[in-house]
Amino acid sequence: MKVVASVVLVLGLISFFCNKKLNDAYFLRIIHESKEYLKSVQTYNTYRFDEKGKPKYIEAISNDSGEENFLVIIGESQNRKHMSAYGYSRDTTPWLDVQRTKENFVIMKNGYACNTLTMLALSQALTEKSQYNHKTLDKSYSLIDIAKAAGFKTYWISNQAQYGSYNTPITLIANSADEKIWLNSDSSASSSYDEKILPALSMVKGKGKKVIFIHLYGNHWEYNNRYPQEKYGIFDNSNYNGKVVDLKKLNAYDNSMYYNDCITEKIFQYAKQNWHVSNIVYFSDHGESVLNDNKHIPGKYDDDMGTVPVYFYFSDEYIKAHPDIVKRTKNNEGVYFTNDMMYNALIDLWGIKTPHYDVKENFLSDEYGYGAGKLLILDKIKI
Ligand SMILES: [Zn+2]
Repeated sequence: MKVVASVVLVLGLISFFCNKKLNDAYFLRIIHESKEYLKSVQTYNTYRFDEKGKPKYIEAISNDSGEENFLVIIGESQNRKHMSAYGYSRDTTPWLDVQRTKENFVIMKNGYACNTLTMLALSQALTEKSQYNHKTLDKSYSLIDIAKAAGFKTYWISNQAQYGSYNTPITLIANSADEKIWLNSDSSASSSYDEKILPALSMVKGKGKKVIFIHLYGNHWEYNNRYPQEKYGIFDNSNYNGKVVDLKKLNAYDNSMYYNDCITEKIFQYAKQNWHVSNIVYFSDHGESVLNDNKHIPGKYDDDMGTVPVYFYFSDEYIKAHPDIVKRTKNNEGVYFTNDMMYNALIDLWGIKTPHYDVKENFLSDEYGYGAGKLLILDKIKI
Protein backbone atom coordinates (compact mmCIF):
# COMPACT_ATOMS: atom_id res chain seq x y z
CA MET A 1 0.00 0.00 0.00
CA LYS A 2 3.00 2.24 0.65
CA VAL A 3 3.78 2.06 -3.05
CA VAL A 4 0.26 3.01 -4.07
CA ALA A 5 0.24 5.88 -1.56
CA SER A 6 3.49 7.32 -2.88
CA VAL A 7 2.26 6.99 -6.45
CA VAL A 8 -0.93 8.82 -5.58
CA LEU A 9 1.18 11.56 -4.01
CA VAL A 10 3.36 11.81 -7.11
CA LEU A 11 0.27 11.90 -9.31
CA GLY A 12 -1.25 14.56 -7.13
CA LEU A 13 1.81 16.75 -7.51
CA ILE A 14 1.91 16.23 -11.25
CA SER A 15 -1.82 16.90 -11.40
CA PHE A 16 -1.38 20.17 -9.50
CA PHE A 17 1.42 21.15 -11.85
CA CYS A 18 -0.68 20.30 -14.88
CA ASN A 19 -3.75 22.17 -13.65
CA LYS A 20 -1.60 25.26 -14.03
CA LYS A 21 -0.79 24.31 -17.58
CA LEU A 22 -3.83 22.49 -18.84
CA ASN A 23 -2.68 22.54 -22.43
CA ASP A 24 0.15 20.14 -21.74
CA ALA A 25 -1.34 17.06 -23.37
CA TYR A 26 1.69 14.91 -22.71
CA PHE A 27 1.46 15.15 -18.90
CA LEU A 28 -2.32 14.91 -18.93
CA ARG A 29 -2.09 11.69 -20.86
CA ILE A 30 0.37 10.24 -18.37
CA ILE A 31 -1.94 11.17 -15.49
CA HIS A 32 -4.96 9.68 -17.20
CA GLU A 33 -3.14 6.44 -18.00
CA SER A 34 -1.62 6.26 -14.53
CA LYS A 35 -5.00 6.69 -12.84
CA GLU A 36 -6.40 3.96 -15.03
CA TYR A 37 -3.56 1.68 -14.06
CA LEU A 38 -3.89 2.50 -10.38
CA LYS A 39 -7.47 1.25 -10.59
CA SER A 40 -6.12 -1.94 -12.11
CA VAL A 41 -3.58 -2.28 -9.30
CA GLN A 42 -6.39 -2.74 -6.80
CA THR A 43 -7.82 -5.73 -8.64
CA TYR A 44 -4.46 -7.04 -9.88
CA ASN A 45 -3.76 -9.01 -6.74
CA THR A 46 -7.35 -10.25 -6.40
CA TYR A 47 -6.92 -12.09 -9.70
CA ARG A 48 -3.71 -13.74 -8.49
CA PHE A 49 -4.08 -14.55 -4.80
CA ASP A 50 -6.73 -16.11 -2.57
CA GLU A 51 -7.85 -14.64 0.79
CA LYS A 52 -4.85 -16.23 2.50
CA GLY A 53 -2.40 -14.66 0.06
CA LYS A 54 -1.67 -17.97 -1.68
CA PRO A 55 -1.18 -17.77 -5.47
CA LYS A 56 -4.21 -18.96 -7.38
CA TYR A 57 -3.85 -22.03 -9.54
CA ILE A 58 -3.16 -21.34 -13.22
CA GLU A 59 -4.87 -24.14 -15.08
CA ALA A 60 -3.42 -26.81 -17.39
CA ILE A 61 0.11 -25.55 -17.51
CA SER A 62 3.07 -27.71 -18.47
CA ASN A 63 6.64 -27.23 -19.49
CA ASP A 64 8.65 -29.55 -21.70
CA SER A 65 11.92 -27.64 -21.41
CA GLY A 66 13.45 -29.69 -18.55
CA GLU A 67 16.01 -28.00 -16.29
CA GLU A 68 16.69 -25.04 -18.58
CA ASN A 69 17.49 -21.43 -17.75
CA PHE A 70 16.18 -18.51 -19.80
CA LEU A 71 17.20 -14.86 -19.85
CA VAL A 72 15.26 -11.83 -21.04
CA ILE A 73 17.04 -8.47 -21.39
CA ILE A 74 14.86 -5.38 -21.75
CA GLY A 75 16.40 -2.29 -23.34
CA GLU A 76 15.17 1.29 -22.86
CA SER A 77 14.53 3.99 -25.48
CA GLN A 78 16.57 2.07 -28.05
CA ASN A 79 15.99 2.94 -31.70
CA ARG A 80 17.41 0.18 -33.91
CA LYS A 81 18.11 2.73 -36.67
CA HIS A 82 21.07 3.87 -34.53
CA MET A 83 22.58 0.38 -34.39
CA SER A 84 25.22 -0.69 -36.91
CA ALA A 85 23.84 -4.24 -36.64
CA TYR A 86 20.74 -2.78 -38.31
CA GLY A 87 22.71 -0.84 -40.91
CA TYR A 88 23.46 2.48 -39.16
CA SER A 89 26.45 4.35 -40.61
CA ARG A 90 28.23 4.73 -37.27
CA ASP A 91 29.85 1.65 -35.74
CA THR A 92 27.70 1.70 -32.59
CA THR A 93 27.23 -2.06 -32.05
CA PRO A 94 30.51 -3.83 -32.91
CA TRP A 95 29.74 -6.83 -30.70
CA LEU A 96 26.25 -7.39 -32.13
CA ASP A 97 27.63 -6.92 -35.66
CA VAL A 98 29.71 -10.06 -35.15
CA GLN A 99 27.00 -12.05 -33.32
CA ARG A 100 24.45 -11.55 -36.06
CA THR A 101 26.53 -13.64 -38.46
CA LYS A 102 26.47 -16.66 -36.12
CA GLU A 103 24.13 -19.64 -36.36
CA ASN A 104 23.05 -19.15 -32.74
CA PHE A 105 21.66 -15.67 -33.38
CA VAL A 106 18.51 -14.36 -35.02
CA ILE A 107 18.03 -10.62 -35.42
CA MET A 108 14.43 -9.68 -36.09
CA LYS A 109 14.36 -7.00 -38.80
CA ASN A 110 10.93 -5.44 -38.31
CA GLY A 111 10.07 -5.25 -34.60
CA TYR A 112 8.02 -2.24 -33.47
CA ALA A 113 7.08 -0.82 -30.07
CA CYS A 114 3.41 -1.09 -29.12
CA ASN A 115 3.61 2.19 -27.21
CA THR A 116 6.19 4.93 -26.65
CA LEU A 117 5.75 5.12 -22.87
CA THR A 118 7.71 2.57 -20.85
CA MET A 119 4.89 1.47 -18.59
CA LEU A 120 2.35 1.08 -21.38
CA ALA A 121 4.82 -0.73 -23.63
CA LEU A 122 6.13 -3.15 -21.00
CA SER A 123 2.85 -3.81 -19.23
CA GLN A 124 1.68 -5.21 -22.58
CA ALA A 125 4.96 -6.85 -23.65
CA LEU A 126 5.19 -8.79 -20.38
CA THR A 127 1.54 -9.84 -20.05
CA GLU A 128 -1.35 -11.35 -22.00
CA LYS A 129 -2.72 -7.85 -22.59
CA SER A 130 -2.09 -6.48 -26.07
CA GLN A 131 -3.46 -3.82 -28.39
CA TYR A 132 -5.35 -6.55 -30.23
CA ASN A 133 -7.09 -8.59 -27.53
CA HIS A 134 -8.59 -5.75 -25.41
CA LYS A 135 -7.80 -7.56 -22.14
CA THR A 136 -7.32 -5.45 -19.02
CA LEU A 137 -4.02 -5.52 -17.17
CA ASP A 138 -5.51 -6.76 -13.91
CA LYS A 139 -6.93 -9.85 -15.65
CA SER A 140 -3.86 -10.56 -17.76
CA TYR A 141 -1.32 -13.01 -16.46
CA SER A 142 2.29 -11.92 -16.74
CA LEU A 143 5.29 -13.91 -17.95
CA ILE A 144 6.36 -14.10 -14.31
CA ASP A 145 2.98 -15.57 -13.27
CA ILE A 146 3.20 -18.14 -16.05
CA ALA A 147 6.88 -19.02 -15.49
CA LYS A 148 6.28 -19.52 -11.76
CA ALA A 149 3.26 -21.71 -12.42
CA ALA A 150 5.42 -23.81 -14.77
CA GLY A 151 7.95 -24.38 -11.98
CA PHE A 152 10.64 -21.81 -12.80
CA LYS A 153 12.31 -19.70 -10.15
CA THR A 154 11.99 -16.12 -11.38
CA TYR A 155 14.38 -13.18 -10.98
CA TRP A 156 13.99 -9.49 -11.77
CA ILE A 157 17.18 -7.41 -11.89
CA SER A 158 16.59 -3.74 -12.64
CA ASN A 159 18.63 -0.61 -13.10
CA GLN A 160 15.43 1.44 -13.41
CA ALA A 161 13.79 3.22 -10.51
CA GLN A 162 11.31 1.10 -8.58
CA TYR A 163 8.71 3.76 -7.77
CA GLY A 164 7.16 6.60 -9.73
CA SER A 165 4.17 7.09 -11.97
CA TYR A 166 6.08 5.92 -15.03
CA ASN A 167 7.07 2.59 -13.53
CA THR A 168 4.23 1.47 -11.26
CA PRO A 169 2.67 -1.32 -13.33
CA ILE A 170 6.13 -2.61 -14.16
CA THR A 171 7.04 -2.61 -10.47
CA LEU A 172 3.87 -4.55 -9.77
CA ILE A 173 4.78 -7.19 -12.32
CA ALA A 174 8.47 -7.24 -11.31
CA ASN A 175 7.71 -7.57 -7.62
CA SER A 176 5.83 -10.79 -8.24
CA ALA A 177 9.20 -12.43 -9.12
CA ASP A 178 10.71 -14.75 -6.52
CA GLU A 179 13.86 -12.62 -6.25
CA LYS A 180 14.02 -8.88 -6.90
CA ILE A 181 17.22 -6.90 -7.23
CA TRP A 182 16.67 -3.13 -7.58
CA LEU A 183 19.92 -1.31 -8.32
CA ASN A 184 18.75 2.24 -8.96
CA SER A 185 17.28 4.06 -5.99
CA ASP A 186 17.04 7.37 -7.85
CA SER A 187 13.87 8.09 -9.81
CA SER A 188 15.39 11.13 -11.53
CA ALA A 189 17.26 10.87 -14.80
CA SER A 190 20.72 11.12 -13.21
CA SER A 191 23.53 8.64 -13.81
CA SER A 192 23.05 5.03 -12.87
CA TYR A 193 25.23 3.21 -15.36
CA ASP A 194 24.10 -0.22 -16.48
CA GLU A 195 27.46 -1.72 -15.49
CA LYS A 196 25.95 -1.83 -11.96
CA ILE A 197 24.12 -4.91 -13.17
CA LEU A 198 27.29 -6.95 -13.75
CA PRO A 199 28.29 -7.63 -10.11
CA ALA A 200 24.62 -8.31 -9.27
CA LEU A 201 24.50 -11.24 -11.70
CA SER A 202 26.31 -13.47 -9.19
CA MET A 203 23.21 -13.26 -6.97
CA VAL A 204 21.48 -15.63 -9.38
CA LYS A 205 22.67 -19.09 -8.41
CA GLY A 206 21.59 -22.52 -7.25
CA LYS A 207 20.01 -25.54 -8.88
CA GLY A 208 16.66 -25.69 -10.64
CA LYS A 209 15.25 -24.04 -13.73
CA LYS A 210 15.15 -20.26 -13.82
CA VAL A 211 13.80 -17.35 -15.79
CA ILE A 212 15.82 -14.16 -15.31
CA PHE A 213 14.72 -10.69 -16.40
CA ILE A 214 17.21 -7.82 -16.65
CA HIS A 215 15.79 -4.32 -17.12
CA LEU A 216 18.41 -1.85 -18.36
CA TYR A 217 18.42 1.93 -18.05
CA GLY A 218 19.73 1.67 -21.60
CA ASN A 219 19.49 4.73 -23.82
CA HIS A 220 17.02 6.81 -21.84
CA TRP A 221 17.16 10.57 -21.97
CA GLU A 222 19.42 12.32 -20.81
CA TYR A 223 21.74 10.36 -23.06
CA ASN A 224 25.02 11.83 -21.77
CA ASN A 225 24.18 10.43 -18.31
CA ARG A 226 23.93 6.87 -19.58
CA TYR A 227 27.65 6.07 -20.07
CA PRO A 228 31.07 6.95 -18.64
CA GLN A 229 32.32 9.61 -21.08
CA GLU A 230 36.02 8.86 -20.81
CA LYS A 231 35.87 5.30 -22.10
CA TYR A 232 32.71 5.31 -24.22
CA GLY A 233 32.51 8.83 -25.64
CA ILE A 234 33.78 7.77 -29.06
CA PHE A 235 31.50 9.77 -31.39
CA ASP A 236 31.96 13.51 -31.86
CA ASN A 237 30.97 16.26 -34.29
CA SER A 238 33.74 15.35 -36.71
CA ASN A 239 32.30 12.00 -37.72
CA TYR A 240 28.68 12.69 -38.73
CA ASN A 241 27.41 14.20 -41.97
CA GLY A 242 23.65 13.61 -41.85
CA LYS A 243 20.80 15.99 -41.02
CA VAL A 244 20.12 16.42 -37.31
CA VAL A 245 18.49 19.01 -35.02
CA ASP A 246 21.04 18.70 -32.21
CA LEU A 247 24.33 17.01 -33.08
CA LYS A 248 25.55 17.00 -29.48
CA LYS A 249 22.53 14.97 -28.39
CA LEU A 250 22.95 12.61 -31.32
CA ASN A 251 26.59 12.01 -30.36
CA ALA A 252 25.59 11.28 -26.76
CA TYR A 253 22.81 8.92 -27.88
CA ASP A 254 25.13 7.01 -30.19
CA ASN A 255 27.75 6.77 -27.41
CA SER A 256 25.07 5.33 -25.12
CA MET A 257 24.32 2.81 -27.87
CA TYR A 258 28.00 1.80 -28.00
CA TYR A 259 28.03 1.46 -24.19
CA ASN A 260 24.87 -0.66 -24.33
CA ASP A 261 26.57 -2.99 -26.83
CA CYS A 262 29.56 -3.44 -24.47
CA ILE A 263 27.38 -4.10 -21.38
CA THR A 264 25.09 -6.47 -23.27
CA GLU A 265 28.13 -8.44 -24.44
CA LYS A 266 29.26 -8.85 -20.81
CA ILE A 267 25.80 -9.97 -19.67
CA PHE A 268 25.65 -12.52 -22.51
CA GLN A 269 29.11 -13.86 -21.59
CA TYR A 270 28.18 -14.23 -17.94
CA ALA A 271 24.82 -15.85 -18.68
CA LYS A 272 26.35 -18.37 -21.05
CA GLN A 273 29.25 -19.30 -18.78
CA ASN A 274 27.54 -19.30 -15.41
CA TRP A 275 23.86 -19.99 -16.04
CA HIS A 276 24.28 -22.08 -19.21
CA VAL A 277 21.22 -20.33 -20.59
CA SER A 278 19.19 -22.09 -23.27
CA ASN A 279 18.15 -18.88 -24.91
CA ILE A 280 18.42 -15.14 -24.45
CA VAL A 281 15.81 -12.70 -25.71
CA TYR A 282 16.66 -9.02 -26.11
CA PHE A 283 14.13 -6.32 -26.91
CA SER A 284 13.58 -2.63 -26.20
CA ASP A 285 10.42 -1.07 -24.75
CA HIS A 286 10.25 1.62 -27.46
CA GLY A 287 12.53 3.62 -29.74
CA GLU A 288 13.63 7.25 -29.60
CA SER A 289 13.35 10.16 -31.99
CA VAL A 290 16.89 11.51 -31.76
CA LEU A 291 17.41 13.17 -35.14
CA ASN A 292 14.24 15.27 -34.66
CA ASP A 293 14.92 15.66 -30.92
CA ASN A 294 11.39 14.51 -30.02
CA LYS A 295 12.52 11.87 -27.50
CA HIS A 296 9.58 9.40 -27.16
CA ILE A 297 6.72 11.81 -26.61
CA PRO A 298 3.51 10.16 -27.91
CA GLY A 299 2.01 13.43 -29.19
CA LYS A 300 5.04 13.94 -31.42
CA TYR A 301 5.14 10.38 -32.73
CA ASP A 302 7.45 9.60 -35.60
CA ASP A 303 8.75 6.26 -36.89
CA ASP A 304 11.97 6.47 -34.84
CA MET A 305 9.95 6.02 -31.64
CA GLY A 306 8.53 2.77 -33.00
CA THR A 307 11.56 0.97 -34.43
CA VAL A 308 13.13 -1.30 -31.80
CA PRO A 309 15.78 -4.02 -31.78
CA VAL A 310 14.62 -7.57 -31.06
CA TYR A 311 17.10 -10.45 -31.17
CA PHE A 312 17.53 -13.99 -29.95
CA TYR A 313 20.43 -16.20 -28.92
CA PHE A 314 20.02 -19.99 -28.84
CA SER A 315 22.55 -22.32 -27.20
CA ASP A 316 23.83 -25.35 -29.16
CA GLU A 317 21.90 -27.62 -26.79
CA TYR A 318 18.68 -25.65 -27.33
CA ILE A 319 19.11 -25.81 -31.12
CA LYS A 320 19.52 -29.59 -30.84
CA ALA A 321 16.57 -30.03 -28.50
CA HIS A 322 14.17 -27.62 -30.26
CA PRO A 323 15.15 -27.49 -33.95
CA ASP A 324 11.58 -26.68 -34.99
CA ILE A 325 11.41 -23.52 -32.84
CA VAL A 326 14.79 -22.27 -34.07
CA LYS A 327 13.81 -22.97 -37.69
CA ARG A 328 10.52 -21.09 -37.34
CA THR A 329 12.32 -18.15 -35.71
CA LYS A 330 14.80 -17.92 -38.56
CA ASN A 331 12.04 -18.24 -41.16
CA ASN A 332 10.16 -15.37 -39.53
CA GLU A 333 13.08 -12.93 -39.09
CA GLY A 334 11.50 -10.50 -41.57
CA VAL A 335 7.92 -10.47 -40.23
CA TYR A 336 6.43 -7.23 -38.91
CA PHE A 337 5.22 -7.33 -35.31
CA THR A 338 4.76 -5.14 -32.24
CA ASN A 339 6.40 -5.88 -28.92
CA ASP A 340 3.14 -6.43 -27.05
CA MET A 341 3.38 -9.87 -28.69
CA MET A 342 6.60 -10.72 -26.83
CA TYR A 343 4.50 -12.50 -24.18
CA ASN A 344 3.34 -15.15 -26.65
CA ALA A 345 6.74 -15.53 -28.32
CA LEU A 346 8.46 -16.09 -24.97
CA ILE A 347 5.95 -18.71 -23.81
CA ASP A 348 6.71 -20.56 -27.05
CA LEU A 349 10.50 -20.23 -26.61
CA TRP A 350 10.29 -21.48 -23.02
CA GLY A 351 8.36 -24.60 -24.06
CA ILE A 352 5.36 -23.77 -21.87
CA LYS A 353 1.91 -25.05 -22.74
CA THR A 354 -0.97 -23.03 -21.30
CA PRO A 355 -4.44 -21.84 -22.35
CA HIS A 356 -3.14 -18.31 -21.62
CA TYR A 357 -1.40 -18.26 -24.98
CA ASP A 358 -2.49 -16.97 -28.37
CA VAL A 359 -0.66 -18.50 -31.31
CA LYS A 360 -2.02 -15.76 -33.61
CA GLU A 361 0.02 -13.22 -31.60
CA ASN A 362 3.18 -15.33 -31.68
CA PHE A 363 5.30 -13.76 -34.42
CA LEU A 364 7.62 -16.80 -34.36
CA SER A 365 4.83 -19.19 -35.27
CA ASP A 366 3.74 -20.50 -38.68
CA GLU A 367 0.23 -19.58 -37.54
CA TYR A 368 1.08 -15.92 -36.82
CA GLY A 369 -2.03 -13.93 -37.69
CA TYR A 370 -0.68 -10.40 -38.05
CA GLY A 371 1.99 -8.62 -40.12
CA ALA A 372 2.54 -5.39 -42.06
CA GLY A 373 -0.74 -3.53 -42.54
CA LYS A 374 -2.43 -5.24 -39.58
CA LEU A 375 -0.40 -3.72 -36.73
CA LEU A 376 -0.93 -0.80 -34.39
CA ILE A 377 1.26 1.55 -32.36
CA LEU A 378 -0.22 3.67 -29.56
CA ASP A 379 -3.51 1.80 -30.18
CA LYS A 380 -4.20 3.82 -33.33
CA ILE A 381 -1.24 4.39 -35.64
CA LYS A 382 -1.21 1.74 -38.38
CA ILE A 383 2.00 0.16 -39.62
ZN1 LIG B 1 10.94 3.56 -21.95
